Amino acid sequence: MEIKKGIAVSPGISIAKSLVIDAEDYRIPRRKIKPAQRMREIQRVRNAFKDAISELAQLEVARDETEEGKIKDIFAVHLRFLHDRSLHKKITDLVQSDLVTAEYAVSATLREIASHFTKEKDAYMRERATDIYDMERRLLKHLLGRKREDVEHLTEEVAVVVRELSPTQTAGFDKKFVKGIASDAGGRTSHAAIVARSLGIPAVVALEDLTESVSGGDTVIIDGNRGLVIVNPDDETIRQYEEYSHEFVELEHKLDAIREKPAVTRDGVKVALLGNIEFPDEAEMVLQKGGEGIGLYRTEFLYLNSPSEPTEEDHYQAYAETVGVFKHRPVIIRTVDLGADKYTQSKRFAPEPNPFLGLRSIRFCLQNLMMFKTQLHAILRASVLGEVKMMFPLITNIQELMQAKMIVRDVMEDLDEESITYNKNIQVGIMVETPSAALMASTLARDVDFFSIGTNDLTQYTLAVDRGNELVSTLYSEVDPAVLRLIRTVVQDAHKAQIDISICGEMASEPEHIMLLLGMGVRTFSLAPPMIPEVKQIIRSVTIEDCNSVARKILAMNSERQISNYLRDATRKILPEAF
Ligand code: PEP
Ligand code: MG
Repeated sequence: MEIKKGIAVSPGISIAKSLVIDAEDYRIPRRKIKPAQRMREIQRVRNAFKDAISELAQLEVARDETEEGKIKDIFAVHLRFLHDRSLHKKITDLVQSDLVTAEYAVSATLREIASHFTKEKDAYMRERATDIYDMERRLLKHLLGRKREDVEHLTEEVAVVVRELSPTQTAGFDKKFVKGIASDAGGRTSHAAIVARSLGIPAVVALEDLTESVSGGDTVIIDGNRGLVIVNPDDETIRQYEEYSHEFVELEHKLDAIREKPAVTRDGVKVALLGNIEFPDEAEMVLQKGGEGIGLYRTEFLYLNSPSEPTEEDHYQAYAETVGVFKHRPVIIRTVDLGADKYTQSKRFAPEPNPFLGLRSIRFCLQNLMMFKTQLHAILRASVLGEVKMMFPLITNIQELMQAKMIVRDVMEDLDEESITYNKNIQVGIMVETPSAALMASTLARDVDFFSIGTNDLTQYTLAVDRGNELVSTLYSEVDPAVLRLIRTVVQDAHKAQIDISICGEMASEPEHIMLLLGMGVRTFSLAPPMIPEVKQIIRSVTIEDCNSVARKILAMNSERQISNYLRDATRKILPEAF
């Protein structure tokens, strides 16, 4: 039995057999072969092509009746590539001339081709690089003779153990079978962690070398409350954890019972609790947990779990489904926040050197106007279905806001010309998640209907601490006095300008931060759906007067350690079960 300590990112307990998955790519060493081995390697290339072709042909037939034309088209494109004689020749020539292994020749040739595609100006052509990488993986699978352990088609319950999880991988998990997640890398507000939290899958990250201690099939306990992973637990530990898990589920049921009760403080102040979602089917969970609308719909996930870019209709359908659940309640659709760790199909294989400071979010949209307009078109069409609002991420200055709003007006004119109805008074807001936006809040407030503070990024950018890097995770804290001062400024400026203000970063789902935020004047929280009942319980247990006094004390403190200890103690008194 081995116990590993990491960072708890999604509560709950799971006891399951492990599924260890490697990174997205195989590592292919550049191994030399002897001249006499050339023919054997060439034959291996031929066999791999043959196997990949027959596998694809089978997949194409199997999907034929069940899937949309889109997937079939992709397989057909892959098949055409694999039948291409010149591609085959290029690979075998490389084996002949450079005396390299079949796998090296396949990988090097396809990667070279893909790199040409990634440099293309045309978005469609750039996307083709994804196809090439896909084929590379398929051929390598046959060459290396080991099947990738596939997390998208599971048939039994597993705990996923992985070095580093991408948001894309997490989004592809089958919730029915993935019972827990444990990763070597990652931070509390990394996007993969956020997705796990939203899906209600217990998760622990930053376990350093866990993947070296676990083999596929080992039993692992993932304790998403205390940040522990226990590898090959003994019988007594399993028994204790089964009991603990039972207690946790009971606590959850108890909390669920307050679903129907309002989020009102003991002295009668109403608080709005909304949900953060990544997929439309999560909206139902927000409702079940007692949420009153959607405060943050992370629409970029439409791009992450699909093999091709979503069409306007894909966007529209997703929004219509979400609004259908919350007809007369607010649904805040955030325009895509791609870039950084969330790549589009075409950029997935060409990351930037400093992606979190690069072409991300609204910057990406403003440079990809066709894509941006497609989404805006769909949001505006959906705006007549309910109380839809639109929000721009990562605004850093007033020009970006003006430019984005101007494009919204352009799209409105297009809709007018097409006689398509939309809500002409749709509310438009921004996420305040950069220090510059926080400092300029009073100016930005004049041109928006609402602010939503993204504490995940605000913390990362204020403290210069990568939110997903476990090596600096102890420095990452939303209650660092520097971050709190910015939050206070934004809240005060929003109040002065009389615009709505909410918090939608993970801070809003941390029970120990609620009193402080209430005391700072926040009355709307948007959070991971499974955390809604717990946060509501806190709200129902406090008075605003108590919260004001907590906030006053905290804002006079200069040390993060002192602040977090104080908040933990204060919350423990109110909701001891949460600890
Ligand atoms: C944030 O940054 O706080 C936020 C809510 O956005 P995301 O986590 O999607 O970056
Ligand atoms: Mg953000």
